[in-house]
Formats: sequence, C-alpha cells, structure tokens
Amino acid sequence: MAADPSVNFKLLHRTCKLVVLLCFLHITVTIFFYVRSLDIPSAFVQNQQNHNNSTGTGTESKPSLDAGVPVTRANDTQSKEEGEQKKRLDKCPETSPLLVGPLRVEFNIPVSLELIKKENGRLEPGGRYKPKDCKALQKVAIIIPFRKRDEHLKYWLYYLHPILQRQQLDYGVYVINQDGDEIFNRAKLLNVGYAEALKDYDYECFVFSDVDLIPMDDRNTYKCFSQPRHLSVSMDKFSFRLPYNQYFGGVSSMSKEQFLTINGFPNNYWGWGGEDDDIYNRLASKGMSISRPSGEVGKCRMIRHERDKKNEPNPQRFDRIAHTRETMNKDGIKSLSYRLVSKQTFDLFTKITVDIGKP
Ligand code: BGC
Repeated sequence: MAADPSVNFKLLHRTCKLVVLLCFLHITVTIFFYVRSLDIPSAFVQNQQNHNNSTGTGTESKPSLDAGVPVTRANDTQSKEEGEQKKRLDKCPETSPLLVGPLRVEFNIPVSLELIKKENGRLEPGGRYKPKDCKALQKVAIIIPFRKRDEHLKYWLYYLHPILQRQQLDYGVYVINQDGDEIFNRAKLLNVGYAEALKDYDYECFVFSDVDLIPMDDRNTYKCFSQPRHLSVSMDKFSFRLPYNQYFGGVSSMSKEQFLTINGFPNNYWGWGGEDDDIYNRLASKGMSISRPSGEVGKCRMIRHERDKKNEPNPQRFDRIAHTRETMNKDGIKSLSYRLVSKQTFDLFTKITVDIGKP
C-alpha cells in the first residue's frame, strides 16, 4: 500500500521545525556564553584600573552623587581597596633591578640641602623612605655618629639617599649628635642611635656609618645578612684594601638579633680608636663571622679632613680590647644611659642630640 503523501509531508514539516528550533537554541546558548566570556575580562580590567589609580597618581574620578553611589560608601570602598592594595604588594626582588653599579664620587662639587631635597622628592620627613611598587625586604635604620660635620653630612645625604632608594630599602636616616664639647664617643652614640630609632619604627636591621664614608658602587647594599656585615671593605684611605682581617670600622650592619646577641656596643671607649675592634671581639666571642662584599663592590671614598678636636687617639684602647670577653656582658646596650637633649625631624634626616656624659 502506498503511503499517504500528506502524512509524509507533515512529518517532514515537524522534523524541520524541530531542527530549526534546536539550531536556534544552540545559537542562543553559544551567544550567551560568548558574551559572558567577553564580560569577565572587561570587568577585571576595570578593577585593575581602579587599583592602579588608587595607588599613586591620584587622578581617578571619584564616584559622584550623580552616579547614584553615596559618597561615604564610595570612600569607604576606596580606602578598603587602598588598604588591600598595600597588603598585596609583592616583595621586592632579592637584587634590586634599579642598581647601576660603579659610581663617580667626588667632593669638589657644591651641594646644598635644597638641591638634595629637590632630587629626592619622594622622601618622607626625617629622611624616611619605602619603595612604592614593592614591599621592601628589610626595614633599615641608618645610624650616623656625629658632631660638627655638617659639610660631610651634606655629601653623605647627597650620595646616599639616591643609592638607598635604588636599593629598594624601607629606611630612615638617624644622625646622632653628641651634645657639648666632651671627648667624642662613637660607639656609645651608635648604641643611642639603635635605641632611639626603635622608638620610631619596627626596624629590623641597623647600618652604622661614619659620616665621611661614601660607597662607590650601589651593589653594596646597606642591609643585613645572616652574619654581621662589614661594608666599607676597600677604602681609598687604605689604598682600596682591608687594613687587617679583623677590621670592622667605617660602615657595618647588624640585624637586631645580632646586635642584641653581643649586648650592643661598648659605652666606654672615649676618643679615637679601638671601639670597632671591641665590636669585632664581641662578634667573634659569640661565634659569629663577618660577611663582606667583594673588594670591587665594597669600594668607598672617605672625605679627607683633619682629626677632630676632642677625638684624640684613646690611649686605653689596647688594654680595653684585650678584655672584651670579660667586659662585654656588663658594658653594652643593656647598661646604656644618656639624656635626650632634642629630637629634630628634618626633611633629609632625623637629628637626635644627646648628652652622653664624659669618661
Ligand atoms: C684602631 C681602629 C681603627 C683602625 C683603622 C686601629 O688601630 O683600633 O679603631 O679603625 O686602626 O684606622
């Protein structure tokens, strides 16, 4: 029996309708997912831009009442975002990509505090700085024992601020000024610097630097290492050589833990010499070794000058050095006493003036 053609046609018609419907459904689903896939990254980019703006340029347009968003809510969200952005900063790399290597250092060019301020626009009051694009690996207090060396300090600030910023450190500069005209005591001033800097910030590393020493290579990073660090290893004054293996003078660094292990520095070396050898003896007696940069990276220049008045060589130094092991537990940061005369927050450094007594 032949099939009814009208029944066949109806069946074909229904099948075609079903196929068209399925095609339509397929296209709709495809378009839906395609649009969604475009949507996600575009929202992401927008968020990223908000973050970027909120971290620095200050040029973002704030949501206004016109946009239907209450201003207080918007500010809340914005400051939350800023807080989170800070938390999210990646750690700075172990070696800063901003370093340039060997530097020309000379002391016949005129420098002024205004020029130094202009060239270091991102410093916070007190000579403080931290990188804005990454989280610094260490919080470093730089301690400079000082008396009547303003010309030298200017060169130090002129050369060191840019170097320390290129080294991506979170740092502050503390100039510890001995009040009065009594005989100078470098190591006691360094102890004071340690104690006073910690009142300001949770520093974890301390660099102790003479005011007249300038590194000639920014790869000589002013930070702390697993062992106490001697940084001024090849000074022009010593024909770019270490004068002796145990030499620990000029510029050195120690973590808080290393410093406390040796009870800080001696307080009773009045006048020039010996205190750095005592510090070396303290370290050696606690089984620590000295870490140093290479002779090339550790090159530095000293500003030539006459010996300061009231800083004559200390005749007692040889005797004292011979007894470090017996004296170090009694004399140090634990027994430090001084009178704070003033604390001044300048643009380029914090100046702590102290009365540290006399011999
Ligand atoms: C002194 C040190 C000094 C070194 C280099 C030594 O005799 O005791 O304090 O740093 O000479 O001048």
